[in-house]
Amino acid sequence: MILPRIQDRGLRKCLGPGDLNKKTILVVHQSRMLTLLGHEKNIELLKRYATEDRPAHAYLFSGRQGIGKKTAAFEFARMVNCPEFFNHAETFECHTCKRILSNAHPDIHLELPDRNLIRIDAVRKILSFLKYPPIEGQYRIVIIDEAHLMNRSAQNAMLKTLEEPPPNRMIILVSSQPSSLLQTVRSRLRQISFGPLSEEHLRTLLSREEKLTEHQMETALAMAAGSLERARLKSSPENIQFRSSVISAIFEDKDTLYRDVMELSAEAGVEKSKTTDLLEIVSSVIRDALVTNLGAESSLINSDYGSLIKRLSQNNSPSQLMRVYDEVLRASARLDLDVNLSRNLVLDVTFLKIESILTRI
Ligand SMILES: [Zn+2]
Repeated sequence: MILPRIQDRGLRKCLGPGDLNKKTILVVHQSRMLTLLGHEKNIELLKRYATEDRPAHAYLFSGRQGIGKKTAAFEFARMVNCPEFFNHAETFECHTCKRILSNAHPDIHLELPDRNLIRIDAVRKILSFLKYPPIEGQYRIVIIDEAHLMNRSAQNAMLKTLEEPPPNRMIILVSSQPSSLLQTVRSRLRQISFGPLSEEHLRTLLSREEKLTEHQMETALAMAAGSLERARLKSSPENIQFRSSVISAIFEDKDTLYRDVMELSAEAGVEKSKTTDLLEIVSSVIRDALVTNLGAESSLINSDYGSLIKRLSQNNSPSQLMRVYDEVLRASARLDLDVNLSRNLVLDVTFLKIESILTRI
């Protein structure tokens, strides 16, 4: 039974342990493979690398979160470790491919961050995994997800292996923030960057996963920023409700402003991700109003709030909008820099400043 070895959180999230029979695993593989949609050029490139005489031993798959980088890393592992891959790339019946895609292959190790950190202990385990030659496949492969979360000593511990790995070993670092990796690490990697998913691809992927109402779909697409993971998150009823209360509290002219924004900052201040979402929503609306001022309305992020954005741009000068934008950026930077800062306090002050600048509508 291979199931206890499945470590992929995404897989666990969408299926309970009891649901993981052979058939569902296959369906999950197929839907996971679909997330490679939009990355066809990179997949072709990886196929070329896989068939090189001596493929590079260390790679960096970079690009924003939730677009399919990790799936591509497993796909690359299939290319180099399944001897029949090029005869059955699109099918999932092969025993080797199935185990690779379930993260149950003895020569493949996936390392995920633990509480937002990849510690040196984890790197030591990785290095000892790489000490041994492959058991079944041609390569022993380590995939490190969100590799920038390795601290400095963890990254330094990898340097020697990245420089001179034993033969038939491969390391794939996956990262949404590659610039946070040490330059000495990055310079040893063959980098492949993955672009954001197009609206068309996101729509296809989302509509295959679950039935969304038109409003859920539009909101998800508006807030996805090219990421399937974000699109999934943003299409939930709670997120749709949250976004609508943010836009209403900050931009609509009502007598209840103070109460509304204080409630909002109390709600959003609880979790960092919610605070980030809130600031992102506000900055995206301001950005849209600025874009509308310039006459480029077709490229709105919040296209479902088109009329509100139009009124906002008519009632506020570009310099007013820029000042609001600066306030939001400043708040984000402050919160990023100082983890001990009270999120509620920063949000309260930011909203009050915005109120003094913006002509609400
Ligand atoms: Zn295969």
